[in-house]
Amino acid sequence: MIFSFNLTHLPFYSTEDFVNFPFKKVIVGIACAKFLFEEYIAYRQLKLLETPNKCIPPTLKNKIDDKKISESEAYGIATIKFEIISTAYNFVSNLGALVLYPLMWNYSVSIGNAALSFIMKRPFEMSLLASNISFFLTVSTFFSIVKLPRAFYENFVLEEKFGFNNMTKSLFFMDTIKMLLVKNLLGLSVLYALGFILEKCTKKFVYTIWIFVFAFQIFLFLLNDLIFIPMFYTLTPLDNKELQDKINALAKQCGFPLSEIYMIDGSKRSSHSNAYFSGLPFMKKKIVIFDTLIKDSSIDEVVAVLGHEIGHWKMNHIPQMLIISQVHISVFFMLFNNVYKNVKMFADFNFIIDPSSKVPTTTSPVSKYVVVNDYPFLVGLFLFMELMKSSDLILDFAIKYYYRHCEYQADNYAVRLGKGKDLKDSLVQLQRSNLSTIYVDKLYSMYHYTHPSISERLEAVDKYNSKQAKKSN
Ligand SMILES: [Zn+2]
Repeated sequence: MIFSFNLTHLPFYSTEDFVNFPFKKVIVGIACAKFLFEEYIAYRQLKLLETPNKCIPPTLKNKIDDKKISESEAYGIATIKFEIISTAYNFVSNLGALVLYPLMWNYSVSIGNAALSFIMKRPFEMSLLASNISFFLTVSTFFSIVKLPRAFYENFVLEEKFGFNNMTKSLFFMDTIKMLLVKNLLGLSVLYALGFILEKCTKKFVYTIWIFVFAFQIFLFLLNDLIFIPMFYTLTPLDNKELQDKINALAKQCGFPLSEIYMIDGSKRSSHSNAYFSGLPFMKKKIVIFDTLIKDSSIDEVVAVLGHEIGHWKMNHIPQMLIISQVHISVFFMLFNNVYKNVKMFADFNFIIDPSSKVPTTTSPVSKYVVVNDYPFLVGLFLFMELMKSSDLILDFAIKYYYRHCEYQADNYAVRLGKGKDLKDSLVQLQRSNLSTIYVDKLYSMYHYTHPSISERLEAVDKYNSKQAKKSN
């Protein structure tokens, strides 16, 4: 059986460790601290947006009319108010889930046992692996249902009010079902692999998990193009000859290994615009442009946006991000492997581990306790993820800083291509069509923003432009 751990021969630590550690208090404390911090910075951003008579950043002066500025402010205020409420909603549902884990476990095992006994026409007890899988499906369905009203409001009230939502209600529900299927399918595969590695590769756990994570990321990369994007969008070859020629010339100028150029029907769901490239490192790449970007921008502006995207490729940002995420995930699992086999942590959340028990779960759907004869590693993973939220809070600042640094580098690359003016025009156009927030609180953007604000980017482009001009003189 895959999930049968020997409680007396744990490789890294003894169950005696952390025996007095207040897991529940620490986990709930971390969740509360994160919640309060996120609400505090959202409140700072709201106050900034509500301040009257703000000065427009010099880089945007005379480029955006007063009507667009007040529209962008109204959108920013509505979005941040929504964020304040949904942060509280997420906080309550996460804590609710932590309290409900034993109940969810007992119910999923009881229902699974009853269903399998009925099918097999004899009493049947699910293994711990099957119990973990059943529990995963219950938790995943719980969160999908909990997230539904939030997503519905965001699309059909908030985005609708500002003219961004193009989604029909039937498309919304179809997307939700498809997402649930994809998430469950991927989740179950990872769950099974993780359980296998945890049991079979205790000595080389970190090394094996590193290989697995790397292979899985490449696999997802491939699936994204082949299955996930076509599940939600339709890609058609770009039919604008002039734009096509200019993109081909740009790719040639940069040495970018371009294979095809596609237009994606992003407008089916939203009026927000974007562009991206895809393809594995050292392989041919395809460029994908949202139809909304083509509709809202001039040809030269679209080419400048792609100059920025190619900048990400030229600066190796994708492999760098892949390495960072692998290091992050590997460190996470190394710590997880050393901490999660802890009787006290499970007991704090009403999971009682009793190796003498003859059945994997002593079934009792009404009890607020779960009695299992081995570690329910998925519950351990969820609890450990909560425990790690404190370090994630700090790590988030560092990762967002790195992302914003990459954005500046990609902008500078587009400037070096001679697309500085078009890039600036495209940024202003993006600000207009996406109603991006002009005024951003420093702490709020440090924590949340993967991209610098439009005015910060315009300022940086100007600075870099003059630096380049000085160099060439
Ligand atoms: Zn970028």
